[in-house]
Amino acid sequence: MDMLIGGKHISSDDLEDVTNPYDGTVIDTVPIAHRQTADLAIQEANNAKYDLFEMSAFKVSNKLFNVVEKLKENREDFAKLLTLEVGKPINESLVELDRSIETLKLAAEEAKRIHGESVPLDAGLNGKGFFAFTQRLPLGVVAAITPFNYPLNLTIHKIAPAIACKNAVIIKPPTQAPLTVMKFAELLNEEFPDGIVNTVTGYGSEVGDYLVTSADVNKISFTGSVTTGLMISQKAGMKKVTLELGGNDPVVVLKDADIEKAVRGVINGAFLNAGQVCMGVKRIIVEDDISKEFAEKLVEETEKLVMGNPLDKSTTLGTLISEKAAIQVEETVNNAVQKGAKILSGGHRDGAFYEATVIDDVTTDMDLVVNETFGPVAPIIHVNSVEEAIKVANDTDYGLQAGVFTNDYYNAMRCAQEIEAGTVFVNKQSTFRTDNMPFGGFKNSGVGKEGIKYAVEEMTKTKLIGLNLR
Ligand code: NAP
Repeated sequence: MDMLIGGKHISSDDLEDVTNPYDGTVIDTVPIAHRQTADLAIQEANNAKYDLFEMSAFKVSNKLFNVVEKLKENREDFAKLLTLEVGKPINESLVELDRSIETLKLAAEEAKRIHGESVPLDAGLNGKGFFAFTQRLPLGVVAAITPFNYPLNLTIHKIAPAIACKNAVIIKPPTQAPLTVMKFAELLNEEFPDGIVNTVTGYGSEVGDYLVTSADVNKISFTGSVTTGLMISQKAGMKKVTLELGGNDPVVVLKDADIEKAVRGVINGAFLNAGQVCMGVKRIIVEDDISKEFAEKLVEETEKLVMGNPLDKSTTLGTLISEKAAIQVEETVNNAVQKGAKILSGGHRDGAFYEATVIDDVTTDMDLVVNETFGPVAPIIHVNSVEEAIKVANDTDYGLQAGVFTNDYYNAMRCAQEIEAGTVFVNKQSTFRTDNMPFGGFKNSGVGKEGIKYAVEEMTKTKLIGLNLR
């Protein structure tokens, strides 16, 4: 598939295969662009941004709604492509499509609600006699740099609000899974003037870096790993940056919890998309009194998962993004076992597949839970009190989301207030998001919020206009 720059299809002398992690077949190729092409995209976006600025909010909203309809019509095709390039079960790809449609709809609605407010200057010294108001203006050009695990919805979380508030966009999709996003950019381009939506494929370390350091890009909206995020924050200079980074989310299960409910939550949270979810359940902190019963039930439910061809509707556990990624998970689990953890279920790898794995007696010093393990692993850490559970939950550099299972009102509120994370759910796993909620972590999990209304705030600048009426 070619890149889309200034409304034209552009390739490169260098091409990269996009392979299906399930069977290694080549799905398509994409151009590996270099700095010059990234520069062309920046120029085209800067030229086109005025066309969008001139468009009424009414028209922008209607056009986004038109794209909603097109995406709905092509839902099945997009889902199939997503499964082929990411290896996620088709039912999960269909859910990503439904969420993408919802995200786009929220942006189409938000396009009509972007406005400033009147400001009472007379509340300040010497401010009497003014009529003042603010305007929310587009930044200009927004570059969206996105990861492989939810490539479509996470890209829409950036480009849809960016366009809703009249910015031109440049998308740098993940090299391992660029196709669904590139196909979606074509749909957007049918509605908007050429140059408003551009895609640049190629390595993050080259074209991503070029976008980050360019003075002609006004905002970087990045989702990906902490390592890349830190590098971006150091290089971005005088531009706005939103960083949606990794997670190491805890789920706390206290002794009075509804164990079945907690188990259902953990199954979804730890194994969804083969555990490759930023807000996936990565640490299960369980009170000792119930840990045996909890672990037994978790194993029982884990063993019901069906690993297989991701295109098969009965499959509930697909592959990881690559064999290399699966080997990394295998090594991390084996390392924890060498240090005393016990595998209760799973623990085997086959190519890019890694079994859904429940691992008990995990301690807080093991790499498995110190770093973000991006695979289908449910590590159980034992604690003896709510105080200890909160301490362990906070014993991490990350702070994306968290879940607490308890029926005790006071402990629920205590955990909700004391766990350091962007979101804490009570009686729900961390792995839950609606596309309108403010989403974004504390600590190393990021800077800024997404969720359409919140993303729009970060993609506009505020101007004050004051009329001296005296
Ligand atoms: P990644 O390696 O950081 O890559 C993300 C994107 O950044 C890719 O498009 C990559 O391009 C690009 N990139 C790499 N180096 C760059 C550089 N020097 N400058 C600019 N861009 C660069 O992350 P990933 O492995 O794809 O994704 C997994 C990570 O994302 C996990 O840590 C996960 O928790 C996190 N994540 C966070 C959220 C959230 O909302 N908080 C959501 C999903 C995932 P290439 O593909 O060409 O390398």
